[in-house]
Amino acid sequence: MEYCYSDTTITSPSSPSPPPPPPLPHVASPCAACKILRRRCVEKCVLAPYFPPNDPLKFATAHRVFGASNIIKFLQELPEDQRADAVSSMVYEANARLRDPVYGSAGTISQLQNQVNELQRQLAMAQAEIVNMQSQQAYLMALIWMEKWHSMSPHQHLSYDNDCQTNTRFLDENLGSLWEHVWK
Ligand SMILES: [Zn+2]
Repeated sequence: MEYCYSDTTITSPSSPSPPPPPPLPHVASPCAACKILRRRCVEKCVLAPYFPPNDPLKFATAHRVFGASNIIKFLQELPEDQRADAVSSMVYEANARLRDPVYGSAGTISQLQNQVNELQRQLAMAQAEIVNMQSQQAYLMALIWMEKWHSMSPHQHLSYDNDCQTNTRFLDENLGSLWEHVWK
């Protein structure tokens, strides 16, 4: 088999690959914002660092609520080290506003505040119930001891007094774990 090469394209007889395409001018893929806005993404595009081409929804959401020109204006007014946070906050607020067009993120905050209040109310009730049950327990123990005291003869009272002191100490030391057991 014979190949016919012109003198300028022959590099070696074993590489009959087609000539490489002419080099294109360097074009970075446009950021998500420029792609959506159908404009050329310039090298120093203010939006490019925060709206990468692989996450178009991020810009679309912020654009829908704030508008591209406002986003650009906000970012240009801020020092560069604060822009990423500003973009996160705008995207968060935009998402909240799409979910709740009236209150936005304030709606979420107020909802969570109500939840905190309700949980604090339940906690206070549970704590009151614990105190109530502890006092009932103490009252019942006192009744049991009194019952026992009355059923004893006078000469047993002295030794019972010592027992009571021991019992009280024992209860003080073990009431905590007893309650843990009850609550489990
Ligand atoms: Zn861009």
